[in-house]
Amino acid sequence: ATPMSIMVGVGKGAGLGILVRNAEALERLEKVDTLVIDKTGTLTEGKPSVTAVVAAEGFAEDELLRLAAAVERASEHPLGAAVVAAAEASSLSIPAVDDFDAPSGKGVSGKVGGRLVVIGNADFMKAQGVEVASLAARAEELRRDGATAVHVGVDGKLAGVLAIADPIKPTTAEAIQALKAEGLRVVMLTGDNRTTADAVARRLGIDEVEADVLPEAKHGVVERLKREGRVVAMAGDGVNDAPALAAADVGIAMGAGTDVAIESAGVTLVHGDMNGIVRARHLSQATMSNIR
Ligand code: ADP
Ligand code: MG
Repeated sequence: ATPMSIMVGVGKGAGLGILVRNAEALERLEKVDTLVIDKTGTLTEGKPSVTAVVAAEGFAEDELLRLAAAVERASEHPLGAAVVAAAEASSLSIPAVDDFDAPSGKGVSGKVGGRLVVIGNADFMKAQGVEVASLAARAEELRRDGATAVHVGVDGKLAGVLAIADPIKPTTAEAIQALKAEGLRVVMLTGDNRTTADAVARRLGIDEVEADVLPEAKHGVVERLKREGRVVAMAGDGVNDAPALAAADVGIAMGAGTDVAIESAGVTLVHGDMNGIVRARHLSQATMSNIR
């Protein structure tokens, strides 16, 4: 490769909102045949909101939301911000929390007014000894609509389920179609549950989904595809995604992402939408055919 053409390509990229950190990323992008994409914040806006509050018998909706918000106020997860925003929108006063804990990829817990409040996915509830059966059918219904069903347990009993939905970015569907039309294998990667992930994937025409993937296991999916002989690009925005971005042949950080993600990626897309991936690949093809 002649450095001059690469430099021209890097310069052109900057004008298009494609920041190339290393020249190899630009060289490799045209050879990529598999694109792994983190769902939250990449395919979706990363700005989830509470769309339903379902209280279990013996609990009031406001109490459920108040206790959940108390714990989530200490969380850094977008799901937590959604719960706090919902409580604030209902003008609820949010109590203080003690002994806050946030096991990665599972949920959060804390003491509120002496009561132990646990919030998260079904596995986390099981681990905390909270029986979720009474609202399981309702939760599954919410997931089939593409929402994440977050359980809330209070002192070992299920207090309710919150549906939290993250809108798909307006440009995502079209970009996925374009990438598939160019022959790319597209894989959605998420810590979210299978039903929710499949519902979102179906709307986008994505037929390969890796769901229920813990943050520390995300890079393993990228490594497995590489072992199968694929040339893999990984797109993501979060702290969780950094090892997977680093493991990929080309890591792509999405615009508003965290510094950790940006540092681990070969390419950063300033505008943070999937169309940037289509453009970045075209730039790579144009640059490399200039060299040949
Ligand atoms: P993603 O890959 O979509 O970013 P995460 O790995 O961050 O997902 O989280 C996986 C799952 O763990 C979530 O879908 C949710 O069920 C649960 N979870 C994580 N953090 C929280 C939180 N602060 N409140 C409630 N549930 C949470
Ligand atoms: Mg994420």
